[in-house]
Amino acid sequence: MEGGVEGGVEGGALGMLAMLTRSYDAGASLPARLQLVADAALSLTGADHASVRLCGDDGRLEPSARAGVGTEGDAPTFVRGQGILGWVAEHGRVARVADASADHRFEPRADRGFEVRSVLSAPVIVDGDVRAVLSASSRAPAAFTEEHERAALLLCTISAQELRLRELSERTITDAHTGAYNRGYLAPRLAEELARSRRSGEALSLMLLDLDRFKRVNDTYGHAAGDEVLRHFVSVVRAVVRAVDVVVRRGGEEFVVILPRATARESAAVAERVRARLAERLLPLSSGISVRQTVSIGVATWDGREPAAELEARADRAMYRAKRAGRDRVHVAGRVAPTIGRGTLGKYD
Ligand code: GH3
Ligand code: MG
Ligand code: MG
Repeated sequence: MEGGVEGGVEGGALGMLAMLTRSYDAGASLPARLQLVADAALSLTGADHASVRLCGDDGRLEPSARAGVGTEGDAPTFVRGQGILGWVAEHGRVARVADASADHRFEPRADRGFEVRSVLSAPVIVDGDVRAVLSASSRAPAAFTEEHERAALLLCTISAQELRLRELSERTITDAHTGAYNRGYLAPRLAEELARSRRSGEALSLMLLDLDRFKRVNDTYGHAAGDEVLRHFVSVVRAVVRAVDVVVRRGGEEFVVILPRATARESAAVAERVRARLAERLLPLSSGISVRQTVSIGVATWDGREPAAELEARADRAMYRAKRAGRDRVHVAGRVAPTIGRGTLGKYD
């Protein structure tokens, strides 16, 4: 059993396990971490193919990481309840199948790249829910032993820990009400993005958004209606900005969006789209009434040198200019005043 547990665990597999368990790294992407799990499963079990599939809300088992033979091309699709791994997702139990062709759950897939004879599949369970399925398959019959099963379960435990920690850290950085990042996340993330911009020489812009006369919504329709408007607002913003843009709720009805790699012109266009989209639609509230809500937006583009606080202050001032000019508009911050001596003189806008 090459590379298998019986044949002596290879340093590579142990190294991967060590890497997975040594320290939690919130910065590492989930697919990258799950790839390590799939690689470790492959070498710990001597399988021909290993995969980790995440259970989607729609029942699909999304292949997140694959290793071994047959990883070229699209992965075969599976949903909950379909095939051996679908059974594992549904029942939350391990399946170790010595002869796949004799197992009623088995669904052969032509696009696997080899004939699957044995399967080992185990659930990743977080708080009682199956959140992912780890699978290994082999072209040899009865390829998987009890020892392999224990190794797979260990990898599932590690994966569950990974998913749980990821969720916890998400919870501490997001605003539960709107799903935007929270205030505490803004400074460290902005610092990170500025550092990236400094290295790459690419632009970075900031949008500051403040809802117009929002107090009136609360006063007229109640606080709960105001809360609904806030959620609608965030979904409008999200629909306009790119996936890489960082939407932060800085305070009550005030938001900041970090736009990496966006020039002044691009970010002004994004801001204008947000403003127009919001202004042109009525937001339906659960009470049955619909309200119109507008927003004032300030945009500032990093000058390549100024500290984060100064960039934010310029976006703030631009937003206030938009307010003073009548609300429901976008104001783009002017260029930074020249620095004379040690102080920065003059008004920027
Ligand atoms: P302006 O156009 O000048 O920005 O007027 P405004 O009424 O939006 O500004 P102001 O700062 O006076 O009021 C903001 C209001 O936002 C007051 C506060 O009650 C409300 N608010 C802040 N956070 C929340 C929240 O989480 N939910 C609800 N419903 N209202 C909130
Ligand atoms: Mg306001
Ligand atoms: Mg405000």
